[in-house]
Amino acid sequence: MKVGIYYFRTLYTQSAASLSVGKLSNKLLNNGYEVNLFLLNQSNIYDNIFNLKNVENLDCLIYKCNYKDFEFGIKFFKKIYEKYHKKIFLTGVFACLNKNRIEEKYSFLKIFNLLNDEDINLTFPYVATKIQKETVICNVDREIELNEHSKYINIELTNSCNKKCEFCHINLLNHTKIDKNIYELVNEIESLIKCNKRFFIFNDCIFWTGEQDNEKILEFCKEVKRRKLVFSFYIYLSLTPLIPDKLLKELKDIGLVRVFFGVENISSDFSNHYLKFLSTQNTERMIQKLNACKISYHIGFILFYKQVSYNSLLDNLNYLRTLGKLFRLGIIIEKLRILPHTKDACYLTENKDKIDMAYNYNFDDEKVEKIFNNLTHLFKNINIRNFEQFFNGISLAESLLIRYNKYDSYKKELNDYYNLKIDVNNKLYDIIIDIIEKDEINEDHINEIKLLYSASEINYTFFFKKLLTLDFDIFSMIPHGQETLNLW
Ligand code: SF4
Repeated sequence: MKVGIYYFRTLYTQSAASLSVGKLSNKLLNNGYEVNLFLLNQSNIYDNIFNLKNVENLDCLIYKCNYKDFEFGIKFFKKIYEKYHKKIFLTGVFACLNKNRIEEKYSFLKIFNLLNDEDINLTFPYVATKIQKETVICNVDREIELNEHSKYINIELTNSCNKKCEFCHINLLNHTKIDKNIYELVNEIESLIKCNKRFFIFNDCIFWTGEQDNEKILEFCKEVKRRKLVFSFYIYLSLTPLIPDKLLKELKDIGLVRVFFGVENISSDFSNHYLKFLSTQNTERMIQKLNACKISYHIGFILFYKQVSYNSLLDNLNYLRTLGKLFRLGIIIEKLRILPHTKDACYLTENKDKIDMAYNYNFDDEKVEKIFNNLTHLFKNINIRNFEQFFNGISLAESLLIRYNKYDSYKKELNDYYNLKIDVNNKLYDIIIDIIEKDEINEDHINEIKLLYSASEINYTFFFKKLLTLDFDIFSMIPHGQETLNLW
């Protein structure tokens, strides 16, 4: 029985490979199915042509979808169903949360939950003895990553979260819990280092959740040191509670270079409504801790949500400017997704043409609605994903250069980068405030945005040209911010 699992890249700041797809493949192989993985592409038709080359030989296809690719992907798989009469399965968080609506509209497919072992075994029961596949490493099929020429790879220690943020999907699905022991994790890292991977992106919701994890994390650091493994890594942390300095230092000593944490929003209305209680004080303390260890950081932030008031929006824009994070334009143009089965889902209006309804709402404040429309219109003039990469890429490069004692050779370039970043941050703020005050966008705003884009692009190009020439090892550890597989 031959199965093809297809999916599109979702995050451009991580590996193209999906850990959940890699684990699903391993489970199907254990149940006797022959499995191959395929990365589709919304912007490169040739990737899709090659990925369909042997579709006739498959018995069934699984499409792991995301809300961003669903409308494109579903038409693609409908055509495959009509042309080749293959069984088609759909999976992924988006598919499971919208199961009833999807099955009603697209009756040719069957949906299952790839995060739940029971559901996988029910859908793909045991048919033959386990199939061996050489790309399986520690129970994850790494077929895509091993083709990728880059040295970054996604990994996880656990897959659950002890928080209950109202805007998050993590606790809405019944998923089988994973909690690896430290030796399994370090074995996995060691095996992946042998495959030439050097930068590990931990996908855990929160890598250290509180004091109860101290022992486990210290054991991890000890084991990495004992085996003398050299690598770098990136983790997700929470602001409540704050990780102790001592633990952060231990993690830094074994290669921690970057941390993600959700600031979300500084208004108390947001915290109360979405049950995520954070404070600017905690954010600032976290930033101080990370700066003291020379660890870079990436933040989660939600600017536009249904109930946001005009004044609160201005306060949060101001805060983003203070943090120097206005270049994260995705935060500005992506309003909060209201998920099915959450308390705000009642505000969503039905649209028969599209399955995804998460954006089908208006803001309570009309002034906010106008600002959102103006800003999304403005930023359509540039490629936002590239723009963010021009800053995220160099910020990660800086941490890696520090880690491998190469910072001094890039002092001038990094200085230019800091100056550019400050300039871009200030100018973006001025443009946004001018649009808010004038209540319109004009040609000057658009031209200024285009100028900021090209200055940032040129700076990035020459920085990465130097990195490519002098330090290819570090160059290849940095996610390249593109939809295509990294195959240089
Ligand atoms: S802490 Fe993060 S992963 Fe956990 S529920 Fe909140 S947003 Fe989701």
